[in-house]
Amino acid sequence: MFEFDFAQYRQALSDKIADRCPGSVAGEPLLNELQRVADEAERLLEQHQVADRSLLDCGPGCSSCCVVNVSTLLPEGIAIAHYLRGQDVGLKNQIRSKVEELWCEVRGLDDEERLCMRRKCAFLDEQGCCTIYPVRPLLCRSLTSTDADRCREALVGQAFGEERPILMHQFQQQLYETLFIGVADGLEKGGLDGRSFQLTGLIRFLFKHPEAEAELLEGRRLCWQDLY
Ligand code: SF4
Repeated sequence: MFEFDFAQYRQALSDKIADRCPGSVAGEPLLNELQRVADEAERLLEQHQVADRSLLDCGPGCSSCCVVNVSTLLPEGIAIAHYLRGQDVGLKNQIRSKVEELWCEVRGLDDEERLCMRRKCAFLDEQGCCTIYPVRPLLCRSLTSTDADRCREALVGQAFGEERPILMHQFQQQLYETLFIGVADGLEKGGLDGRSFQLTGLIRFLFKHPEAEAELLEGRRLCWQDLY
């Protein structure tokens, strides 16, 4: 039977990320490494039988889980900001005002309160698809339902205080969660801020302060006043 050594995977990731930390030109090696490890995880899921993706019931247009706080690491946020810079001005402006509006409503809310609001992520388009899909946060990739109807019902139920299980694709969930922790460890080891921030607040900050990117990639740590 196939067994995957998550502890070793996490250690290797952490070392690779730490190696690409400060001293780099505009953080490019770090951002490239982040993309590379995310692509590698994708390939791993395609290749291994234990990760049978036919079990997944998530698909384009189903955005029922896009109503939660998404914890996002700094380089993930910076990669999203870079990606958005390459999009057309109309889309960029639209996303920017959605981010601003959403952040005013959700800042300071804990996970449960955020879920209760049922407010959709600012990156969803009219069709319910993620507009930053190629660079979406690692924890968005870890949410993988094996039964979309039950997932939807459970999320609605949770907003009303009901405890219903959400059936997840366990291997994929654990792989991306380990990836997230490995990257966070590597950032701290490499002298950068390895804490996570709420996706909406982080992107709003990066929209407003593009000049801060270089400082963040050199070890500046954000404080809560920066985001609020
Ligand atoms: S970033 Fe994309 S996948 Fe993640 S919550 Fe937002 S719309 Fe959904």
